[in-house]
Amino acid sequence: MITDHADLQALTVKDILNASDGTRKILFSLEDGSVIETVVIPCSRGRTTVCVSSQVGCAMNCQFCFTGRMGLRKHLSTAEIVEQAVFARRLFSDEFGSITNVVFMGMGEPLHNIDNVLKASAIMVDEQGLHFSPRKVTVSTSGLVPQIKRFLHESNCVLAVSLNATTDEVRNWIMPINRKYNLSLLLGTLREELRLKKKYIVFFEYVMLAGVNDSVDDAKRLADLVRGIPCKINLISFNPHSGSKFKPTPDEKIIEFRNILIQDGLVVFVRLSRGDDQMAACGQLGEPGDYQLPLLRVPEKFQVAL
Ligand code: SF4
Repeated sequence: MITDHADLQALTVKDILNASDGTRKILFSLEDGSVIETVVIPCSRGRTTVCVSSQVGCAMNCQFCFTGRMGLRKHLSTAEIVEQAVFARRLFSDEFGSITNVVFMGMGEPLHNIDNVLKASAIMVDEQGLHFSPRKVTVSTSGLVPQIKRFLHESNCVLAVSLNATTDEVRNWIMPINRKYNLSLLLGTLREELRLKKKYIVFFEYVMLAGVNDSVDDAKRLADLVRGIPCKINLISFNPHSGSKFKPTPDEKIIEFRNILIQDGLVVFVRLSRGDDQMAACGQLGEPGDYQLPLLRVPEKFQVAL
């Protein structure tokens, strides 16, 4: 395989941080001095996942996300994305066994950098490249509708859509991209596109925020919203970080929420937090610095929840 012998030039390892659960965060310097973060997550069932970044910072300003505070600094090149997975293999395969999965869930909105993400994911699944199965490479998005259509037409890798709310009122607040592409447009597009893409399943990611999106009514609405879309749902425990006012939903409430979805026939996984003592967990990557995107006004009825 070419990548076993190639010189890696786009990235330089700056530091490696170890979380107590075995998760590793690699800090890479780019040629211009920017720093990006990549997370390697070993799992007891023989699976090891590398979570790669696609941008320095992010423009989407999701209110629960640490990276979102940074604003967008720049898009990563195809090489800078692919090398994160190559380095993860070289650094950790002896310790953890082979890297089995790649997720584009690090810093950045992958589909905002769609040209380079499509090229990088194609190299990751090419037999002359990293030779992952397309089913083991997952690209996430906050819901950029035109780019979702393009991705579904041009790639066979897995798509994960961060949904995180069941009403436009809440999603407009916590994920401002919803003001441009609302729930009806986003889910209608997926329903339509997946009708044409046989045997393809989309993943919905749903970060559980106490008092914001975790009610019984939310669970029932979520089941209604995704009806007719071939999908699986990941319920994700929120990782608190400095500057965030959101609180995690208690475990028993996550289970209650999950059970409502299961009763409706949905396939649901609960993802517990990994790597949070080294800020290596979902939504915790990056270093906002002095300049930060503004937090948005909290709708009045949710002010008590924060
Ligand atoms: S959750 Fe993803 S899309 Fe939203 S601000 Fe964070 S990195 Fe960007």
